[in-house]
Amino acid sequence: MTIRVLSPLEAARIAAGEVIERPASVVKELVENSLDAGASRVVVEARDGGLTLIRVVDDGCGIPPGELRLAFERHATSKLVSEGDLWRIETLGFRGEALPSIVAAADVEIVSRAAGHEEGRRLRFEAGAPVDEGPEAAPPGTTVVVRGLFRRQPARLKFVRSAATEAGQIATVVSRYALAFPEVRFTLRIDGRVALEAPGTGDPRDAAAAVYGPKVATSLVALRPDADLEPLGIGLAGLVGPPDVTRSTRSDVSLFLNRRWVRNRSLTFAVEEGYQGQLPSGRHPLAVVYLELPPDEVDVNVHPTKAEVRLRREREVFGVLRDAVRATLSGLSATRVVMPATATPPAVQEDAGAAPTDRQELRLTSPAYQPPLAPAGSREDGAGGQAPRLPVLRPVGQVGALYIVAESPEGMCLIDQHAAHERILYERFLDAVARRQPDVQQLLAPEPIDLTPSHRALLADHLEELRAHGYDLEPFGEDGVWAVRAVPAATAGRDAARSLMEVLDLLERDEGRGDRAHRVAASLACHAAVRAGQALTDLEMRELIEQLETCRAPRTCPHGRPTMLHLRSDDLAREFRRR
Ligand code: ADP
Ligand code: MG
Repeated sequence: MTIRVLSPLEAARIAAGEVIERPASVVKELVENSLDAGASRVVVEARDGGLTLIRVVDDGCGIPPGELRLAFERHATSKLVSEGDLWRIETLGFRGEALPSIVAAADVEIVSRAAGHEEGRRLRFEAGAPVDEGPEAAPPGTTVVVRGLFRRQPARLKFVRSAATEAGQIATVVSRYALAFPEVRFTLRIDGRVALEAPGTGDPRDAAAAVYGPKVATSLVALRPDADLEPLGIGLAGLVGPPDVTRSTRSDVSLFLNRRWVRNRSLTFAVEEGYQGQLPSGRHPLAVVYLELPPDEVDVNVHPTKAEVRLRREREVFGVLRDAVRATLSGLSATRVVMPATATPPAVQEDAGAAPTDRQELRLTSPAYQPPLAPAGSREDGAGGQAPRLPVLRPVGQVGALYIVAESPEGMCLIDQHAAHERILYERFLDAVARRQPDVQQLLAPEPIDLTPSHRALLADHLEELRAHGYDLEPFGEDGVWAVRAVPAATAGRDAARSLMEVLDLLERDEGRGDRAHRVAASLACHAAVRAGQALTDLEMRELIEQLETCRAPRTCPHGRPTMLHLRSDDLAREFRRR
């Protein structure tokens, strides 16, 4: 083996691999530079998930013409003052690695006009080398255009997902900065359409409206710590959602520490703890939290892309955050009922059918339902050649509003009611799509729906499959709002917008698992299936079991979890030492 020194381009590409993992990383670095430059206006544009083009335009301080070349040297930065300053409040970047890394991964053109200069300067790179430089008329500020990202690195390209997924990631990144810097006006344009427009008023609620839609933003409550935190050296502000605005993942608990978006499990947990069990199980809140701590109390993982942080006084900050959320929400529940039906303990929920709640109807008896691939009578004859059938089961009762207990010829079964119903609906949905006969429910009036940019991207990516299930969805107006005209009958009777959002949440969770048709059917099934915590009547239990018996793969849910556990009579006898 011969030792050799890497060429500067090779070395830069290795470093770039750390900083630039996907198109959204380019956007992150360029937007950070714009914010560090004191911009009050940032326009981000992406084409084809950022692979064809990423453009970031700002009105910041610009780069003086004599320093433009230098900005692209490795470790060239105007920001780091000393080693001890690695976690400074004032700037987001500090290593001088972003620009050279981007140049190593794509073709780059920059035009920058520094404050106090008459004109701007242009500099262009191809294949890592400068190819053109000269004066250029330009407004004050900086424009960076990145083209053909990873075009010369097919290995990297393999890790890039669909354009819609990458666009969704870009939208997530821009959304975070819009929330972190509400005083900056942000526009994000994806393939020519405006995906996000944050007005830059300085009010976090306006930024939240841009990201989550006006309806959600109005429901958010300003975080009100119940104690004076100043003596503790902790600054805390933000917005939290009421307990009935929930998500299926924690990704909408946004934490900003000294203006940086950070990940910290314990603090995310503190926010959830503040809800004191008011969240339905498996659901997570929406929150935007701004925390300020003395910089020397924060350990930042110095890996360039990791946002994970550790705090010196983590327990104390945990308590402060949890209590603030708690105090804020307790002020809220005095004025409105916030307890969603699904959070009610099962015992109290027994006769919930009479109350006007969110309780879902079991739609097992729907006359439109045709057992999948089951010609009449096939249950008795075991349908030769198909997957092993279930034994005949007799429901005995329900445990914890979660499991059905059933007797089988060889013992007893515990059936997970949600997983079992998921399996039934999943096969039903797939069969209806295969027959091109989805069960559709028309809405009385089209319902507009505000989607987050990442939800919009998911929607665009799965549109065909969603339509095959009976969704009638159309872009509505110019600003990325969608209108729902019809929904799959299995989701009828619920708030159509919320229901679709939950399906999108579930799709997000399943990203990368199976193909799109599978993901959409599985997400719809999970959404429409009877939930854990719901009491079932004897009739409902019997119907659930009968329909499970007709399934092709009755023993697992669409995600592969078991739908049932079997306790054989032999095993029971042994456990009771009858033998
Ligand atoms: P870092 O941000 O870590 O300093 P970068 O490689 O991202 O490193 O940028 C190098 C330098 O280029 C910055 O320190 C800054 O001086 C200058 N620069 C980059 N982008 C901009 C911009 N949009 N406006 C003004 N200056 C910029
Ligand atoms: Mg930077």
